Amino acid sequence: SAGPVSIFAEGWLKRVYEEKPVKNVRTRFPPEPNGYLHIGHCKAIAVNFGFAKHHKGVCLLRYDDTNPEKEEEKYFTSILDIIKWLGFEPHEITYSSDNFDRLYELAEELIQKNKAYVCHCSREEVNRQRGGPDNRGSRYGCEHRERPIEESITEFRAMRDGKYQAGEAYLRMKQSLTDPKEGNPQMWDLPAYRVVKENHHHRTGNKWRIYPTYDFTHCICDAMEDITQSMCTTEFQQSRVSYDWLLEQLDIKVPKSEEKGPMQREYGRLNVGGTILSKRRILMLVEGTKVGDKVIPPAVRGWDDPRLYTLVALRRRGIPAQALLKFVEELGVTDALTEIQPPRLEASIRKHLERTVPRQMLVLEPVKVVIEDFATEDDQEITVPYDPKGGIPGERKIKLGKEIYIDRTDFREVADADYRRLAPNKAVGLLNVAFPIRATSFEKDDNGKVTLIKAVKAPEALAEKPAYIQWVDVASAVPVTARQYKSLFKTESPNTLDWKTGGWADDLDPNSEIIFENAVIERGIKTLLKEHTLNPSGSSDDLIRFQAVRTAYFCVDVDSTEEKIVLNQIVSLREDKAK
Ligand code: ATP
Ligand code: MG
Ligand code: MG
Repeated sequence: SAGPVSIFAEGWLKRVYEEKPVKNVRTRFPPEPNGYLHIGHCKAIAVNFGFAKHHKGVCLLRYDDTNPEKEEEKYFTSILDIIKWLGFEPHEITYSSDNFDRLYELAEELIQKNKAYVCHCSREEVNRQRGGPDNRGSRYGCEHRERPIEESITEFRAMRDGKYQAGEAYLRMKQSLTDPKEGNPQMWDLPAYRVVKENHHHRTGNKWRIYPTYDFTHCICDAMEDITQSMCTTEFQQSRVSYDWLLEQLDIKVPKSEEKGPMQREYGRLNVGGTILSKRRILMLVEGTKVGDKVIPPAVRGWDDPRLYTLVALRRRGIPAQALLKFVEELGVTDALTEIQPPRLEASIRKHLERTVPRQMLVLEPVKVVIEDFATEDDQEITVPYDPKGGIPGERKIKLGKEIYIDRTDFREVADADYRRLAPNKAVGLLNVAFPIRATSFEKDDNGKVTLIKAVKAPEALAEKPAYIQWVDVASAVPVTARQYKSLFKTESPNTLDWKTGGWADDLDPNSEIIFENAVIERGIKTLLKEHTLNPSGSSDDLIRFQAVRTAYFCVDVDSTEEKIVLNQIVSLREDKAK
């Protein structure tokens, strides 16, 4: 069969190409290097890199670094790393700041064309000019709007040369502020340049005290990089008019035509509910915060904590890059917002893992079982395929001895009629073993905790079609720490919590991470470790993932050492019905 139609060959994305059917498609992914990318950005990456790939064009990574107050080196590195993890390679890496000189020249050119002016009005005054609260009043220009071109040039240079503090002067574009028919706020004389207080820039140092705004920078950088289709999210829909306006003033675009210059089009964001995506809020989770006297400790271990929905977190949690991309593509691209809840993502990931990862037997809370009539001839190696359905190639050899571990939750001191697992006088099957076992007695410690179960072989129980449980041979068991995850918050809508005064902390679920320090896994994990490189933080997607039968999907975490393997739950085996 032909397989599914690519999202680029139909619908919204097809039209974006048809509106500008160029030979050499050039797109860009333009993150601000002021934080880690989140799952929403995966859509932006899929759209921009994917579109270029589909049309045999190229996609650039452009760091939109025009805000020196918020940028940090670690974000630059992490953004590139994540793009590579998702399987894309930027054709070129550029920085908006590479164009600062040219942007400055174009700003002066705009002033010379009487299309920009230096304004000294306060924020409040500018709001009044724009019709006041709700923009209901009439709009008007200030005295600076009418000042001579030469004066604006002089003042703009003075801004550049440090005469003004932040907030004391702006370069504003002379758009349609005074046209009563202009209903688009993006045309109400937007700022093009501002004076910045913390002006040290990671690339241009202390050269600049003034920095261009997004509205001034983005379209010009697109033009300078010969971008053909400039795709962004729908919050920028109203900005398309100012994008085109500025390029037209600079003779880069022709009014009402997409022949020349870049073309902006807007698609709907991808939002994931049930979690927090805002950088500011994640920062509070990562670093903790103080509200008055109340100290709120960190809620997660870092930006890559598997409970978060940053891409570094999803990667660490073990979500395969290809599964994530496929999920985002399956949601489709239109101009509508896509809102999903985590279970939908998890269902898709589960489906992918089901077909791609080997099985292992893991026991989270081990209790020892002695099979008392176990004979030397029972001591054996059992060959078990990685996938009972045969979809995943390969097999491993499991050891079976007189002592095995089973999970504490698979044993009861007293069975009732419906109970189908191990209990005194009750038989249960052991996965991959020919004979079931029947418990005969058990021992407890002073706290009433079962410490040992005695059992015998019970081949006769096969006739009763027993339930089967996973187990691990004691002699060859590999100790592991297993971390299981669920939602960080008790509510399904954490964005509606009180993020101002710290009320969100009361909604944190103390059991969002459960750590099983004494878990054990079959020795087959060692073979998997040998076959893979343990490199979850690099740009490869070569994580060790497996299905722990009857438990969950897991991956091997970067915290693993020679002595102790650490596992992260990727997703549960079934959708959690409790929530
Ligand atoms: P946020 O405020 O959510 O952190 P942002 O818009 O500030 O995101 P940028 O670094 O500017 O982040 O984003 C780079 C690109 O990714 C932009 O083109 C932006 O439109 C796109 N993008 C950001 N968030 C989403 C999302 N939730 N869904 C789809 N695309 C997104
Ligand atoms: Mg942005
Ligand atoms: Mg933002």
